Amino acid sequence: MKDKIHPKYVEGTIRCACGFTYKTYSTREKMRVDICSQCHPFYTGKTKMIDSAGQVERYRRRFGETKATKILTASEKEKLEAEKAAKKAEAKKAKRTRAAKK
Ligand SMILES: [Zn+2]
Repeated sequence: MKDKIHPKYVEGTIRCACGFTYKTYSTREKMRVDICSQCHPFYTGKTKMIDSAGQVERYRRRFGETKATKILTASEKEKLEAEKAAKKAEAKKAKRTRAAKK
């Protein structure tokens, strides 16, 4: 390595908005991130609006809670899934009876 042109390589900390911290080596001592593998829905499997700028809150204040912005609870989700499944089964049945008539 050439002398005096490389930044210092130090032990750094990455701090997530959820509170989790990582230790790593970097040229920067401290870094902040909004989301990490400890809190990202892809890894947690939980529904969460990723919204550090408050845009969802702003939208809700302006337009009220809509179907699209509503975060469903587990029981509500279950109910919705059951409704969907029932509708699907009914459609299948209707198709079958139509086919039988022919
Ligand atoms: Zn996090």
